Amino acid sequence: MREIVAALIDALGPDAVRHQPEDVRVYAYDGYRSGDALPAAAILPNDTKDVARAIGICREHGEPIVARGSGTGLCGAAVPQHGGVVISFARMNRVLAIDTRRRRARVQPGLLNARLSEQTKALGLFYAPDPSSQKISSIGGNVGTNAGGPHCLSYGVTTNNVLGLEFVTNEGEVLRCHQDAPGYDLTGVIVGSEGTLAVVTEIEVKLRRLPEETRVFLAVYDSVEAASESVSEIIGHGLLPTALEMMDRVMIRAVEEAFHAGYPQDAAAVLLVEVAGSREGTDDAERAIARIAKDAGALTWRAARTQAERDALWAARKGAAGAIGRLAPNYYIQDATVPRTRLPEALRAVEAIAAEHGLIVANVFHAGDGNLHPLLLFDRRDPRSVEAVVRAGTEILKQCIGLGGTISGEHGIGYEKREALPLVFSASDLAAMVKLRDTFDPRQLFNPGKIFPSGASCHEVQPSLARTGGTP
Ligand SMILES: Cc1cc2nc3c(=O)[nH]c(=O)nc-3n(C[C@H](O)[C@H](O)[C@H](O)COP(=O)(O)OP(=O)(O)OC[C@H]3O[C@@H](n4cnc5c(N)ncnc54)[C@H](O)[C@@H]3O)c2cc1C
Repeated sequence: MREIVAALIDALGPDAVRHQPEDVRVYAYDGYRSGDALPAAAILPNDTKDVARAIGICREHGEPIVARGSGTGLCGAAVPQHGGVVISFARMNRVLAIDTRRRRARVQPGLLNARLSEQTKALGLFYAPDPSSQKISSIGGNVGTNAGGPHCLSYGVTTNNVLGLEFVTNEGEVLRCHQDAPGYDLTGVIVGSEGTLAVVTEIEVKLRRLPEETRVFLAVYDSVEAASESVSEIIGHGLLPTALEMMDRVMIRAVEEAFHAGYPQDAAAVLLVEVAGSREGTDDAERAIARIAKDAGALTWRAARTQAERDALWAARKGAAGAIGRLAPNYYIQDATVPRTRLPEALRAVEAIAAEHGLIVANVFHAGDGNLHPLLLFDRRDPRSVEAVVRAGTEILKQCIGLGGTISGEHGIGYEKREALPLVFSASDLAAMVKLRDTFDPRQLFNPGKIFPSGASCHEVQPSLARTGGTP
């Protein structure tokens, strides 16, 4: 047994340490890829003290430390690329306190996102960031990637909903930061840092009052352009639905076949629109948005009449990635943003790039945020299709940058996009970020090999794609 494993067992007890190859293998992948190395151990701490002790031991042994939520990330951020010790938060998964009056909750990082709103519903409150993975992804992981979701259009992404953190430094010291405190906004720095700056052990989040009224509509189009036009017109008129999601023909068919939620299979595109607030406010918003959508070319505008219908439309939207399994053995989900007004151009470019590479593409995305998610379908057993997907994915990113967008809307950089970072940041921008990372973690033990380019070229990424599961 390796010395570090013995030290971890000594400090945390045998029940909290996994080290056999067959046990640690499940910690060596995420939703994007499986890693090149197995971790020496995966630990399951019960509390912050366990985390601090384990980090102290890793530091003594010079072993990398990779925090892990549910492993649903789509950029390889939770993959222990250089081995080391994985800290799984599966056991630190409780709601610690709910302050109804101040509308705040304190939670442990392993809490699954959807569980928080389930627990606060009876109090008339909810937690807003709702990644489509919310039933399985953890709030700690959401903090790691600064996750977004359909409702982030009006409520903001994770960083806009996190008030404070407890975290362990790479020296094993337990610290707290809070947005209410004066000085630097360390909470903002740590959210989205993908486990490279600190290991988060507690999170204080904002809760919001459940709206009096929520309505969901389906606008149906005969072209993706007309649907995109509606999106920029709606927001351009100063209207802010709580969600504004788009799906194209390929995606609608897959979703409808899987969920039977009532999406029209002959449509070229649909917009799923949600408005929420006071009864009068939602009446006004519905009238205004429906008029704009029709003016921009919506063929029909249909309201979900019952809660069951609303839930079905949402369940199908949030299950879209899974539904794609009906069409192809593998998909690669790209994540990039463009200014909303450039959506029609961006979608035309995505279509053209996929066609050029002989790939089928399905689009489902947060249209209101200009956050594209083209899913490129492929079969990883066919090296040519893997190659085509890699090329098409890179070309899509470059097109989005050319349209004034950027390389990630919400999935993060991780391992997948680290070589693409210089496409949007200058050498001095990157140097400033590295300095910040080194201030928190001078020995680079926290999640090494992530976010920052290796200095090598993109071709390094390519062979790794052939080994992946659901996505390259
Ligand atoms: C079907 C599907 C749909 C998805 N939809 C969305 C979506 O709508 N929006 C979206 O943003 N993402 C989406 N994702 C991606 C993914 O779910 C998110 O990135 C999510 O935030 C990852 O959470 P996790 O618990 O799985 O974290 P992991 O994948 O385990 O980790 C993610 C990162 O956070 C770090 N981390 C985890 N815990 C901690 C901690 N305690 N302290 C410090 N760092 C930590 C990890 O080191 C890693 O860098 C989707 C994924 C799938 C599979």
